[in-house]
Amino acid sequence: MDPSKPLVPKDAAAIILLRPDTDPTNPEVFWAKRSTKLAFLGGFYAFPGGQRETSDAEVPVRNSDDPDTAAMISCAARELFEEVGVLLARGSQTLTIGQRASLLDDLESKRLGWPELLSLYGLHFDANDFTFVGRWVTPPFAPRRFDTWFFLANCPAKQQPKVTEDSELESGEWIRARDAYAKWERSEVVAVPPVLHALKTLAGGLTDDLVERFLSVPQARREPTRRIEFHPNYICFPVRTPTKPPATHTNCYLIYNSREILVIDPGSPYEDEQIALADCVDDLISEGRIVREIILTHVHPDHVAGVNALNDHLERRQGSRAAVAAHRLTAESLKNQVAVDRYIEDDEVQELHGEPAIRLRALYTPGHARGHLCFYAERTGALISGDNIVGFGSVLIDPPEGNMHEYLASLRTMRALPNLSVLFGGHGPAIANPYEKIDEYITHRLQRENLILATVREGASSPKEIVARVYTDVSPKAHAMAERAVLAHLEKLEDEGLVLQTSDDTYRAIGAEI
Ligand SMILES: [Zn+2]
Repeated sequence: MDPSKPLVPKDAAAIILLRPDTDPTNPEVFWAKRSTKLAFLGGFYAFPGGQRETSDAEVPVRNSDDPDTAAMISCAARELFEEVGVLLARGSQTLTIGQRASLLDDLESKRLGWPELLSLYGLHFDANDFTFVGRWVTPPFAPRRFDTWFFLANCPAKQQPKVTEDSELESGEWIRARDAYAKWERSEVVAVPPVLHALKTLAGGLTDDLVERFLSVPQARREPTRRIEFHPNYICFPVRTPTKPPATHTNCYLIYNSREILVIDPGSPYEDEQIALADCVDDLISEGRIVREIILTHVHPDHVAGVNALNDHLERRQGSRAAVAAHRLTAESLKNQVAVDRYIEDDEVQELHGEPAIRLRALYTPGHARGHLCFYAERTGALISGDNIVGFGSVLIDPPEGNMHEYLASLRTMRALPNLSVLFGGHGPAIANPYEKIDEYITHRLQRENLILATVREGASSPKEIVARVYTDVSPKAHAMAERAVLAHLEKLEDEGLVLQTSDDTYRAIGAEI
């Protein structure tokens, strides 16, 4: 697999379950919070669903003339059953609650396969019970990608969805579509675009043109989603960049309110991507806003390479360039490449004029890069985390720009923020389980560090030797990069008096003898 190419999306399906006898003007749907322990989209609100399995195609689905659709109906129904215990098969109305529970147990313990289980009880699906409402493809910026079929279905009157023990879901509830959407508008939940689109569409009622409204956006017909609003007023706009594999994109953020826009990290050097970003900015401008500033989280080329192109565009579009703001150390390193007009100091607040009021507090958080800044919105708990925490790939600490001691201190500064709700990293999807994710980063670094120290105490002396012993889970191609990370750990251990540098490239342990 070529690591510079985005992943190929895998087939998946989800069910938007409607409550029996719900109010058609504001229907109730079943939505669930994904477990905060999950590495991918942990803490997000979603509909029950998941990835296609081979045996999904072996299940009888009547009134469907397309084998692919039939298999995806079967997949969606299986996932719904596994995650919330609701069985949409025809014939299942005669099953008792106990029988359904035992079937679920058979399926989850793999005593019975999905097709066998259905045939044992003479059950089948009918395509008329499943209304297709779109196929959405995960944008190419994520560590996992799905081509997800969404189906609308009515929950059978006698069944009550309940998150099962083995589920990836943490909790679920019936909620009126309008209330669910309002929760997102109040920044209380994080969700992916197809879920928000479904809630918004259903909030308009179960009208005759419901399916048309679902399919009215091109993204519901597999067109790539570019503008991702995980959180209201924060557009994540991934642009293709020559970044560190496996990531292929860098997130540019457009933070906007009724009057102003802040652009954070327009990082693509590619013209087609710069044009796509400029189009998105233009859409916001044409609604009466101005670009107040372009802000940089840090110095790396995949975060700054599109600044000048965007400003050239703004000069043509609105008659003036936007001021560029960054930390002083970032500005110094970018001299002759990007002119920085304003320095941002630690703790300084960037305020957007207009509605709603958006205040972003700058946090000086070096470690990945010397002038690294994060931006924290105290009201909603959103944190632009730059490359300190990312939704895809790992964070490289490469000395001398990178510093492990500072990096860990920065992670702890981020961890100490009182009401974090979502992290917007430089790469990959938003992170809706911020505290769990930061803890995971800290733990991972400290474990690596302990291993490195133990290896030095056993006699390994150079970063190369240490990598060979410690990074056994990393492909040899990545060893050069791993050596930089080991060096960063060794520098930190030296500061702490635990190792001593004995030559350009060698270290030995001091202190505790073993
Ligand atoms: Zn970076």
